[in-house]
This record gives sequence, C-alpha cells and structure tokens, in this order.
Amino acid sequence: MKLNVSKLMMIGGLMLTACQSGVTDDFKYTDEKFADIQMLRYKVEGFEQLTLNQKLLVYYLNEAAQAGRDILWDQNGKYNLRIRKMLETVYTSDQVSKDGDDWKGFEEYIKRVWFSNGIHHHYGCTKFKPEFSEQWLRDQLALLNYKEELPADYVSTVEGETWEELMPVMFDPNIMQMRVNQKDGDDLVLTSASNYYGEGVTQAEAEAFYEKMRDVNNPEPVMYGLNSRLVKENGKLVEKKWTTEGLYGPALQKVVYWLEKAKPYADTEEQKTVIDKLIKYYQTGDLKDFDDYCIAWVQDTKGTVDFTNGFTEVYGDPLGMKASWEAITNFKDLEATARTEKLSANAQWFEDNSPVDPRFKKEKCKGISAKVITAAMLGGDLYPSTAIGINLPNSNWIRKEYGSKSVTIGNLTDAYNKAAQGNGFGEEFVIDQATRDLIKKYGDACDDLHTDLHECLGHGSGKMLPGISDDSLRAYGSTIEEGRADLFALYYLGDPKLVELGLLPDMEAYKSNYYTYIMNGLMTQLVRIKPGNNIEEAHMRNRSFVSHWAYVNGKKDNVIELVKKDGKTYVKINDYAKLRDLFKTLLAEVQRIKSEGDFLAARQLVETYGVKVDPTIHKEVLERYEKLNISPYKGFINPVYELVTDKDGKPTDVKVTYTEGYAEQMLRYSRDYATLPLINN
Ligand code: ZN
Repeated sequence: MKLNVSKLMMIGGLMLTACQSGVTDDFKYTDEKFADIQMLRYKVEGFEQLTLNQKLLVYYLNEAAQAGRDILWDQNGKYNLRIRKMLETVYTSDQVSKDGDDWKGFEEYIKRVWFSNGIHHHYGCTKFKPEFSEQWLRDQLALLNYKEELPADYVSTVEGETWEELMPVMFDPNIMQMRVNQKDGDDLVLTSASNYYGEGVTQAEAEAFYEKMRDVNNPEPVMYGLNSRLVKENGKLVEKKWTTEGLYGPALQKVVYWLEKAKPYADTEEQKTVIDKLIKYYQTGDLKDFDDYCIAWVQDTKGTVDFTNGFTEVYGDPLGMKASWEAITNFKDLEATARTEKLSANAQWFEDNSPVDPRFKKEKCKGISAKVITAAMLGGDLYPSTAIGINLPNSNWIRKEYGSKSVTIGNLTDAYNKAAQGNGFGEEFVIDQATRDLIKKYGDACDDLHTDLHECLGHGSGKMLPGISDDSLRAYGSTIEEGRADLFALYYLGDPKLVELGLLPDMEAYKSNYYTYIMNGLMTQLVRIKPGNNIEEAHMRNRSFVSHWAYVNGKKDNVIELVKKDGKTYVKINDYAKLRDLFKTLLAEVQRIKSEGDFLAARQLVETYGVKVDPTIHKEVLERYEKLNISPYKGFINPVYELVTDKDGKPTDVKVTYTEGYAEQMLRYSRDYATLPLINN
C-alpha cells in the first residue's frame, strides 16, 4: 500500500506551513512547472556517511531500479513506448523549429507524457489532449523521414509509415480514453487502455478465469494474476508471465543483472537471501516464489539500506489484480530514528508528567520508534510521482503471519514541505513578518517533533478504565483519538523537557507550531473542503475541534484573535503560554472522554467545534488560495549517482549530484535504460 501526499496532508497538515522560498543551503527543492505539475528535487541527506559498501549497494540497486522503467510504460498502454520514441526523436532533433504555438504545445505534451509514463494522466487516468496540431507533428515526422524500429515481421494496420497507427491513439479522443476505467456498468477490461489484458479479453472472461484459480480453503493463497498479462491465444485464455524468459524478459534480465551486482555488498546475510529469492522469482514467475521473497524481505530489518523492486501495487489494473512495476532504494534516516528513540526511552517520564487524571495513566509505558527512511532512488511506478510512505507486503496472509514494514520517507516529506515554502502560502495567510520568521526558523524541526510525539507517544499514552471498550465512542472514536495524540504533542512541544533532551533549541520554538496549528485548524485546512460541505475526515475534524475549542475558551483572556487587515482575516495569537494551558485542559478532558468512553461528551465536543464550517471564512480562504496558483500535482527529479573508480577500475566512492534537469533526465533514462523493444507481445 502506498501512503500518498493527500493522506500526508491529512495526517500532518504540515505542508501548509509557510516561509519564504524553496531554496535552502543552495539546494533547490523546486524545479520547473508545466500543466498541473510542479517538479521537485529531494536531498539524499546522510548518503556521505554510509560506508563504501553501502554506497555501492545503493548504486547497484539504483541501476536495478531504473532498468525496469520500460516495463511500466508498456503496462500503462501498448503504444506508449512507440509514442515516447517518436516524441523524443522530434524533441531532440535540430531540424525541428523550436518556436511557435505548436512547438510550445508539443513540449508541454511530451513533459506530461514523461511524467505519466504514458499518454494518460497519472492520477486522473484520462488521455491527454495534445495542444498542438496533428498536421504539425506529421510535418515534423516527414521532415525527419521518421521510421519506427519495429520487428521485421510486423504487419502494419495502415498504409504508409507505421507511425500512422499512432496518430489516432494520440489525437482521437474516442480511442483509449481512460487508462483505468472504474465506471460501474462498463466492461472495465475492454474500456481500460492499460495493457494488462490482451486484445478482445472481456471483464467477464478475466473474472471467470481467476475465479477458477481461487482456493478459498487455502490459508496461504498466492496473489493470483499479479505478474502476467492475460491474453487470448487461438480463442483460449492464457497468462503471459513477466519473467526473465517471458514477457518483459529483456528488461527483467537487466534488473537481475544489477541485482547480482548489488548482492556482494548486501548489508546483512539476510539481505543476500532476499536478493537471491527476488532473482529466483523473476526467473520462475512462480507466485509462491514471490511470497517466499516477501517473507524474507519483511523479516530483514537489521540492515541500513533497503529496497523494493518488482510488480507491487495493483491500482493500474481495473480489476485490481495485476501489479505495475516499481522500485525504490532507501536507507534508514539515522537522525530521525535517534530522535524517536530518545522520545521512546523517555516514554514513562512523559506519561507520569502528563496533565491527565492519574486514574487514566499507564503504570508501564513503552513508546514506539517510528521508522523513517531516506529515499535514494525512485523508479517505475514510484517515479516521478511518488508515495511518501510505504506499507508492504500486500499479501494479507503474510501480513498476518509475518507482519509488514511500514515506513515514512522523510526526505520526500521534507522536500514537499520545503517546496511549499516558496509558493506564497505564508505571505498570504501568516499574519506578519515576525511570525513568518519564527516559522522559518523553527517550523521544520517542530513539525517533525510534533509528528514524532503524536505517533511515538501520543497514541500509546493513557489507558481505558476497566470495562470500557475501545469502540464506545463509535463514530467519534477516531476523531477523539487523533485529537488526543495531537494535544499530547502540542502540550509537550511547550515543555522545557524537550529543550533539556536536546530535541528543541529553545523555549521560543514551540510557538511556530502553535501558530501553524491554529491557523490550519481555524482557516487554511478549509482549502480541502468544497463550498457547502462539512468537515468529515477524522484528522481534519480533530484539528478543527482543538483549534476552535481553544479559540472559544481562550476568548475571555484574548488568547487567540481573528483580525482583519485590508479585508483579509488572519490568526493572531496574543498569549502562547495561556494557549498551552488551554491545550493542557483539553488534553485532560479528551483523555477522560476516551478512558471513560463518554460518548455524549465526545459527540458534543466534536459536533460543536469540529464539524461545521463558517461559510464566510471558507469562501475567503478558498478565494485567497486559488490566487496562489499552486500546482495540484508534484513529482521528483532523481539525483544522479556516479561511480568513482581508481586507475585499476576499482570503485572507491559514489558521488551524488542534483543538477540534472527534468527533460535531460528523462532523455538519459530513455537512452540508458531502453531495455525493451517498442512492441511487447
Ligand atoms: Zn494519529
């Protein structure tokens, strides 16, 4: 499962923090914008501190992560590789005139196609409408005398050049409209353009085919259909497996080649076994071998470097069985892990000193260490659009028997946050320069710590009174629980203990988090709510009730104000110490509600402060946000890794650079990792 960015926004709301620019320490987090996309960069912090062996392991796993790139392109649509080749030929030709509206439209189109690994929107799944004329493209192809490199026995369906076949695929809006069609009532297989089912295979046929395989009595079922295309051969359905000797063989052989190169540098003996099992599975295509690999992988937790590489997520198949190819190389974020370990080691102190009634406190309290990783390379279906958290494997019985690895990708989250700093959000919504400076100085450190306190201690703190069941708060349960974890974090962010533990620099820092939290809860999180709607999602309700309760109950002391400047509303916090007292009081009350299972009080609190939206403020926030023109989708340019060798060719180091441009990177990948022919049947 993937944790995506919109989920992140719901968990932390942290992307809505605000400062001045997307540039820090000369590293540029933001790159070009086109269509509805903004490209970002991520920093591989800590790479230099890895051992040479670990660096080499990362390097070779990175190569394996790119070697399968073409697979995803072909999975996303059977013409994608041909179209990519054609577009790139035009794009890189000196003979093509690079001005005029057609060129501009063409350039945007190829950038979108690269981003989506095909001709359909990566998220919305609809086919792109080219903003340039078909005739213009034909003229360029004629000028270049473009010929496709297709197999000698290829039988074209058109007269003239074979690329004529691609014109309707790109330009006719009625052909291959959706990559994944989920519309109830349609034949989802026939109407989806993704390439998981062969010509003429219907949804009913595919479902019947897999229904026969299902063995309900097997406690350890494999994930049927995961690694193949289902096609009709002589009227009979057969699976064409994706293996080193089968479909996508040339690409998978390259993947295996790089995995073999990586193996000697594996971090642990267990990891060597993991790599061996993955190679075996790529060779056999046997899904039992895949389960075997997953079990080894999920248990290999000791090393620093980790990776996934394979047919993993099934979002691209309208029937949700067949997996797209993806890869990521990563290593443990030691700094973040040290931070969460420090909190966990002091879990009992936090519990003992919390402001809740002693009857609701745990006598023995154990924190958990959140696992934060640093991404080193994104590939396949994780590139350029990516996840910020991953929870694998997907097999239910393996998760039950062996557990799963659940991680958040710290440097990607960080890059999103940094990028958000340059988008004008802070200038628009934060009340004054002094507050923006405060957020700029402390925002990131506090946001991370807020998340750590929430996850590692907040959720784990407190206890239920005897006889009170976990679900007694019913529909309000998760909102109250999230509120409890947030309040725990907010209360302790203002505690000198964190400065003493070296987790915050001084007693000013927490104010930055208090400001952004209240601003988000009272105003800015409303950008995600459509006009006229209430707040439904639990994390958003929690932030709303915490903020509004503090606003209302702090009124007599004028703790929080909503002030108007030039017709715009701003949050003004007059007394941070008193605000902390309010959080303290509410934390004690929310813990009481939880421990006693007080349903009526939970409903009262959430319904009064958490659900309803003030339409005037809502309208104003939406209008101000709209003007900022923030790209709804983001993706990443990968760093470039270069092997440094001595005069005998022996590797001595791996260097990372961050200067490659978006188009440059895409063209290099198409050149260096062109592992498949243009047609794969
Ligand atoms: Zn939570």
